[in-house]
Amino acid sequence: MAAEIQFQNTLTGKKEPFVPLHPPEVRMYTCGPTVYDFAHIGNFRTFTFQDILRRFLRQRGYQVNQVMNLTDVDDRIIQNAAQRGIGIREYTDQYIKVFLEDCAALSLERPEQVIRATDHIDDMVKLIQRLSEKSLTYTSDGSIYYRIAKFPQYGKLSKIDMSGIQPGARVEVDRYEKADARDFALWKAPKPGEHFWETPIGPGRPGWHIECSAMAMRYLGETLDIHTGGVDLTFPHHENEIAQSEAATGKTFVRYWLHAEHLNIEGEKMSKSLGNFYTLRELFEQGHKPSSIRFLLASVPYRRQLTFSLDGLQQAASSVERLRNLHFRLNLELASKTLPPGSDSQLSDRVAKALEEFDAGLADDLNTAKALGAIFTLVREVNPLLESKSLPEGNAQEVLALLENFDHIFAVLRDPTPEKDIVQASAIPLEPELLRLIDERQAARKRRDFKRADEIRQQLAGKGITLEDTKDGGVRWKRT
Ligand SMILES: [Zn+2]
Repeated sequence: MAAEIQFQNTLTGKKEPFVPLHPPEVRMYTCGPTVYDFAHIGNFRTFTFQDILRRFLRQRGYQVNQVMNLTDVDDRIIQNAAQRGIGIREYTDQYIKVFLEDCAALSLERPEQVIRATDHIDDMVKLIQRLSEKSLTYTSDGSIYYRIAKFPQYGKLSKIDMSGIQPGARVEVDRYEKADARDFALWKAPKPGEHFWETPIGPGRPGWHIECSAMAMRYLGETLDIHTGGVDLTFPHHENEIAQSEAATGKTFVRYWLHAEHLNIEGEKMSKSLGNFYTLRELFEQGHKPSSIRFLLASVPYRRQLTFSLDGLQQAASSVERLRNLHFRLNLELASKTLPPGSDSQLSDRVAKALEEFDAGLADDLNTAKALGAIFTLVREVNPLLESKSLPEGNAQEVLALLENFDHIFAVLRDPTPEKDIVQASAIPLEPELLRLIDERQAARKRRDFKRADEIRQQLAGKGITLEDTKDGGVRWKRT
């Protein structure tokens, strides 16, 4: 029996069993990027969490139907495009391309729908009309605002205390950092020279919040199973999504709200406004591998803050390499039939238990740290058996299957973009004679014949193989 899936729901503040409304389908909405710049790795932490989530649900047999929006119209986009003298479509196209490339480099599965806000202006206009029919809006200077006083449940997601905020005060910009007043714009009147749409509710462009409500309901229906995003979207963005959607439909908009915590650098939240951010491309240029970045982002459970450091990235790289070496070593030993036949039932039980713990960790609100713990504990047990060639073939197969299972979720054993990833070179299995030399050196070390061990190390170095002895008496190799 697999462990029951439980998610911490921001709405209720509780960990709850996950049961989708239309099984086996899971309807999930993800706030995507505003495409005016490169996304930073703080953003990718959230996208990586969503990827782990969808992969886990799929592994559990669910059909994930995930929608991600691309915000391709807002103040900054309009300004930047105008400065460059190009249209907003042309301007945002280039950042969408970059974003999708970055996602692919990090092995993020493509959501079923990745959709642009500007392709859904009609849906937004219709939703605003629905709200107007229910007297939830008012117009001022050609812009349309949501009247929060008409939605008494406002604040139920973020539990924010609205008492100090003046009713009727308005937010002119849609940058959520500056949203400090109650009512918010659903539709913005065009300023002179600005890009706008001619619509039945007047000329203008949509506010940011209405995008997500309109697009989510267009593709996923009026009640979604899961809505994800970074924790800083909880207020006001997600609160406003709830107000817009639930006031229009009278139904629950989202059943499970999942929010990923911040990524910090030296104790500060990484953000564009603070200027302390890394983009993926910067890290690639410094020689960091997509798999190390993905591993680091995925390794801390999403509800905990993650402190990013280059040291942490190095550790992630060596964790990935440890798993890759075991993976290739198992494949090679099995292919060259160097292991004893049969299998040991106690070991089989041990591998089965590791798999169960891995799955149970993920089922527990995606506790990736717990899941990884189960894998690395087993790796520590198996490595010495493999070194001494006492791991039976049947068990080697089981460990290999466990690693594949792990990789369906973590996706770090292979790199999707070899040109960016030098570690790919070590993915080519060692030739059997080189592997024999490594074994011979291990045997020499064991009988404390360090002279012979050193000779072999140098011999291998001459063939471009670097060895690194591990604390548990094993050895790692890589091509240089
Ligand atoms: Zn959104």
